[in-house]
Amino acid sequence: MISFPQTSSCESSIERLRASLGSRVTLVGHHYQQEAIVRHCDFRGDSLELARRVPHIDSPHIVFCGVYFMGESAALLAREGQQVHLPELSADCVMARMAPATLLDRVLARLTASGRKLIPLAYVNTSLDVKGVVGRYGGAVCTSANAEQMLRWALDQGDGVLFLPDRNLARNTAAVMGIPEKDIYQLDIRQRGENIDVSAADHASLVLWPGLCSIHARFSAAQIEAVRKADPSCRVIVHPECAPEVVKASDAAGSTSYIIKYVESAPEGSHICIGTEINLVQRLQQQYAGRLRVEPLRASACSHMARVTPEKLLATLTGIENGTARPVTVNPAVREPAKTAIERMLEACAPSR
Ligand code: SF4
Repeated sequence: MISFPQTSSCESSIERLRASLGSRVTLVGHHYQQEAIVRHCDFRGDSLELARRVPHIDSPHIVFCGVYFMGESAALLAREGQQVHLPELSADCVMARMAPATLLDRVLARLTASGRKLIPLAYVNTSLDVKGVVGRYGGAVCTSANAEQMLRWALDQGDGVLFLPDRNLARNTAAVMGIPEKDIYQLDIRQRGENIDVSAADHASLVLWPGLCSIHARFSAAQIEAVRKADPSCRVIVHPECAPEVVKASDAAGSTSYIIKYVESAPEGSHICIGTEINLVQRLQQQYAGRLRVEPLRASACSHMARVTPEKLLATLTGIENGTARPVTVNPAVREPAKTAIERMLEACAPSR
């Protein structure tokens, strides 16, 4: 069991408000949220699990403890009249910002001007405006849990795929699928897309947007080597947002849900080093203390995820209680194509398939 710190007055107020709001509110939280937040959540999960969960929530208010793109996607998937609230609207994803919708639109227009059917596949860590562009070009969304399945899907839809914005997830997925380096081309998006070599991109079946997650970019193959030197029995598992050489040097790589399952099923006494956001690693460390030795490959925290604090959660719940909370709004111009892009993923990855 996870041991929780002493309940503060803020935490007691959250609990009181939650009890008073009852079924009017459902709290969901991403695995990267701090323990003081996820302990209040009705559901926690990775992006795919939470996206699947939202359409089944009945309460009129959903409080989404995560970063902005997650709240936007939840607002899109919510039922009519349901409100989605983010405790901190400025909590953004640095990687999502690396792919602005207007630039993507311009780049896709250039890459498809010849009539090429290049299918955009957007990691869920993108704005709703980007998902709207992707939906219009016949593409879909993916998460780290289904990147391989969705890349196969996208390759079947046209004569090439533009994967965005995470070049590391794209390369790691391509490596699992055996896509050779000669079939991969990374775009130069500088000068508002003017630098792009369209002819080089035309020869690639997998075209990459050059984004990455700076939190996962902090892990290195040298850190893995040092860990193994200190304890050759140590198993290293990393998130596929890490650089390909890090994934290659690890024992396993997968989404946050995959990492959780890996730790859950490890034999007693195992020593496991994890390369992903620190809050998830610390939670697993506490959860399995005494049974497993769980350690971070290095402490790497997402400062945007950390902007959601118990005080902000309390303020959001208070706003819901007194009717002043401002829900996330969805730009009507992108609603339909963005929803289509997300639904293509949910359909292609439906559990029964
Ligand atoms: S950990 Fe990286 S990908 Fe995840 S929200 Fe933070 S910046 Fe974005």
